[in-house]
Amino acid sequence: MRVYLDNAATTPLDKEVFDTMAPFMLEHFGNPSSIHTHGREVRAAVEKARKTVAGLINTSPAEVFFTSGGTEADNAAIVCTVRTLGIKHIITTKLEHHAVLHTVEMLEKQQDVQVSYLRHDEQGVLDLEHLEELLANSPQTLVTIMHANNEIGNLNNVQAIGELSKKYNAIFHSDTVQTMGHYKHDVQQLGANFIVGSAHKFHGPKGVGFLYCDANVKIQPLIQGGAQERNMRGGTENVYGIVGLAKALEIAYRDMEEHHRHIQGLKDRMIYKLKDQMEGVQFNGLSAEGDKSLYTVLNVSLPPSDMNEMLLFSLDINKISVSGGSACSSGANLGSHVLEALNIDPDRANVRFSFSKYNTPEEIDFVAETLAKMFKKMPV
Ligand code: PLP
Repeated sequence: MRVYLDNAATTPLDKEVFDTMAPFMLEHFGNPSSIHTHGREVRAAVEKARKTVAGLINTSPAEVFFTSGGTEADNAAIVCTVRTLGIKHIITTKLEHHAVLHTVEMLEKQQDVQVSYLRHDEQGVLDLEHLEELLANSPQTLVTIMHANNEIGNLNNVQAIGELSKKYNAIFHSDTVQTMGHYKHDVQQLGANFIVGSAHKFHGPKGVGFLYCDANVKIQPLIQGGAQERNMRGGTENVYGIVGLAKALEIAYRDMEEHHRHIQGLKDRMIYKLKDQMEGVQFNGLSAEGDKSLYTVLNVSLPPSDMNEMLLFSLDINKISVSGGSACSSGANLGSHVLEALNIDPDRANVRFSFSKYNTPEEIDFVAETLAKMFKKMPV
C-alpha cells in the first residue's frame, strides 16, 4: 500500500473530470477566439463552464475570470486593485500563502504601499479587534486574508472580516484556494470583493483557476494581450482546463456533504489513533478543533526525537506521501513561515496530513501505525 495524504498540495484528477476534458484535447481543438465553427463550439464550452462556476458561487458569469491557477488569481486581485484603485495600505497576515505574502511584499517595495500584519495568537487565531483598529485609521485600504490556512487548516471568519471591510470602505480579497470545492461559497453572503479557486485542489486539472471579481470594483488586467476574458486576461484560454475545472467544481458541490462526512471521519480517526499510539503528540493551530479547522487538513506536532530530521524521507520510504514544515527556515528542513509565525518549538517535527474523498480508514490506520512504529524504534 502507498498512501497519499498530501491533498492540500494537490489532489488526484477525478476520472469523471478527465472524461469531460478529453474531447477538448482531441476533437474540439479550436481557438475560442476564432469565429468559425471550430472556434465557436469551443467558445460555447468555455462560456458554459463560466456559467457553471458562477452559478455554484451564486454570482453572474460576468464576474468570473479564468486564470492559470490560484497564484495568478491572487496576484491579479491584489496587484490590480492596488494599481487601479490607488491603494495605499494593505492589511494582511503573516500566515498567508506565498502567492499573497510575496505579492504584498513586492508591492510594498515597488508601489509606495504600507503593509500592516494582523496580530494573531499562538494558535493562529486572528485578532479582529486589531483589524478594526487598523481599518478605522486608514482610508484606501485593501484587506487580503485567507479563508483557510493551507498548513494548519485554521478557518478564518471571512464573513466578519467582510463586514468590517465594508464598514470602513476597504476592498476585501480572500484567498479561498483551500476551501473552494470543500465548502459552499456564496459570494452574496461572503462579503468579499474577490475570491479565488484552483482546480487541482478539488480533483480538477493543474494550471487552471478562477477569480471572482465583484463588478463594482473596476480593475485593469494583470496580463496584457488579446481581448480574452472580456479584456481582463490576455492569452488563449486553457480550454480543457476550464472545462475540467467547471466539472470538478460541479462534482465537488454535488457530493460535498457526503465527502465532508467521510473526510472528517478520516481526520477524527487519525487524531484518535495518533493520540492512542504515540506519546506527546500535539496538533498545530486549530487543526484538531472540529469545525474551526478545514476538515481536509491535520497538522501534527511530534515530540523531539532523532527521527525528526529525516521524518518526511522516512515516511516516504515507508510508502507515505505527506508534507512537513519546520519552524526554522534554514538548514535541511523545509521552513514553514506559518509555523514560524506561531512560535512553535523548533525541536518538534511537524507533519501535515491532508485528506481527500479517495482516502480510506485502512490507510489512516496504516499511517498512524507506521508513524508510531517509527518513533518506537528510535532510541530516545
Ligand atoms: N493559496 C493557497 C492557500 C494555496 O494553498 C495555494 C496552493 O497551494 C495557492 C494559493 C496557489 O494555488 P496554485 O497552485 O493554483 O497556484
